Amino acid sequence: MENISKNFIEREIEKDLEEGVYKEVVTRFPPEPNGYLHIGHAKSILLNYGLAQKYNGTFHMRFDDTNPTKERVEFVDSIKEDIEWLGADFTNQLYFASDYFDKMYDAAVTLIKKGKAYVSDLNADEIREYRGTLESPGKKDPYSDRSVEENLKLFEEMKDGKYEDGTKVLRAKIDMNSPNINMRDPILYRVAHLTHHNTGDKWCIYPMYDFAHPMEDIIEGVTHSICTLEFEDHRPLYDWVVKEVDLENTPRQIEFAKLYLTNVVTGKRYIKKLVEEGKVDGWDDPRLVSIAALRRRGYTKESIANFVELCGVSKANSSTDIGMLEYCIREDLKMKAPRVMAVLDPVKLVIDNYPNDDIEYLDAPNNMENPELGSRQIPFGKELYINRDDFMIDPPKKYYRLFPGNEVRLMNAYFVTVTDYETDNEGNVTLIHCTYDPASKGGNSPDGRKVRGTIHWVCANDCYKTTVRLYENLVDEEKGVYDNDGNVNLNPNSLTVIKDCVIEPSVKDAKPYDRFQFVRSGFYVADPKDSKDGQPIFNRIVPLKSSFKMPK
Ligand code: ATP
Ligand code: MG
Repeated sequence: MENISKNFIEREIEKDLEEGVYKEVVTRFPPEPNGYLHIGHAKSILLNYGLAQKYNGTFHMRFDDTNPTKERVEFVDSIKEDIEWLGADFTNQLYFASDYFDKMYDAAVTLIKKGKAYVSDLNADEIREYRGTLESPGKKDPYSDRSVEENLKLFEEMKDGKYEDGTKVLRAKIDMNSPNINMRDPILYRVAHLTHHNTGDKWCIYPMYDFAHPMEDIIEGVTHSICTLEFEDHRPLYDWVVKEVDLENTPRQIEFAKLYLTNVVTGKRYIKKLVEEGKVDGWDDPRLVSIAALRRRGYTKESIANFVELCGVSKANSSTDIGMLEYCIREDLKMKAPRVMAVLDPVKLVIDNYPNDDIEYLDAPNNMENPELGSRQIPFGKELYINRDDFMIDPPKKYYRLFPGNEVRLMNAYFVTVTDYETDNEGNVTLIHCTYDPASKGGNSPDGRKVRGTIHWVCANDCYKTTVRLYENLVDEEKGVYDNDGNVNLNPNSLTVIKDCVIEPSVKDAKPYDRFQFVRSGFYVADPKDSKDGQPIFNRIVPLKSSFKMPK
């Protein structure tokens, strides 16, 4: 399925190349620096970059910074970092739309001279009213008959700061009766006395998106301007600008469906709101799907690329299960990540017949499925920690782990048999007593007798205590993403902080972004922000088990 749908943009490109419409392929990714990038943007980046690679073309990284109201340098920097991390190389191909303000202004003057644009004094409300609706046609703008000379003079005065914000606009002269509202004399320029992060106070008029965007593509020689479906109705206007400004390059726009994740907040606007309201801990809160958050959560760029590939490119909006993204990271880390033993909910196990208080070292493979990762030595001794749920006083049938009288294998170590246990006043188990069979070293049966359960453990006198954070969906899936007021229905359990987890000591050296499988639990990453040197704390990337099934 994905190959067929994926090919629709490629087929268009190949046709254009065959017919000589374009000699080469130039694509771009044009974010507005008004927030952090998210998983949907990753799709657009990898698509545009991938197409440029595939057809030996060029990929442009372009900041669409034509609206100073919400744009900030912080966002420019984060966007660059995210794109570099994803692996879309834009060396020598970094562009800022604001560098083209002069050229855009000149193109607007061309339109005025051709009688294709005019200055209007209607205010915003009047323009809306004159524009009409889907059912009713628009009304002619009373200023649309101004002479070319008058329009040139007024537009120049707009540029020179003679007019207040909102008092004058430059409109394209197209067709107030068009069934497509976007073609009813759209605004090309507005007056806005704003300081721009790049051009400072040089400009007090700024181009509107529908004019700026084709201009940016024309100026850079972009051939295929790939955008999302909501711009389909804007394509006639895009083509109108390309045709009327009389410039050499003639890019074309192709639309594809946005990536949506079910029960996940993807829109930049909505993520921003969560950040600003303090509902999450910044743009890189690991519960978000901003690229920075996914990175911090422990996702690899390979897993994201694979996910985007599996989603395919389509013309129809749909929503993808986040389980697919989780599937991709599990697949990626399965062979790559070392497997270590970590006990998140520890209870002590004492081996009463263990001869002394010394620590012995046992050999353990780093990844049973991938011998290339080698092995390590893990400490073992008389006192161990095991997970509380690996022991039951009164187990149900088919419980093969520890219970009084039962024998299990301690992973990579020995067979042990439970002899006794202690509890506190409330009946909570505080200590489990057992004996071990020294002949079962390495976890191998000495005489062919079988044990059904294998559990993991950590040496109590040589382990690393740290904090581990577990994440669940930020959204309360029962209630859906938004409530009636447009606020996100938050899952109260989206973050669980577990202090005093015990992990085998080898992980103490973990560097930020080092990833592990904690056996029988999940994949974890050393958090890049909250870890200190020699004191990593861990984020759970995904649990090992999932109910998600890959669609065929
Ligand atoms: P949002 O809808 O999240 O607010 P945006 O479209 O406003 O995002 P821009 O910075 O304008 O964000 O987008 C840059 C590029 O990324 C555009 O070409 C846009 O079409 C694309 N893009 C944005 N969201 C998605 C998505 N969910 N899936 C695929 N591409 C996307
Ligand atoms: Mg946008």
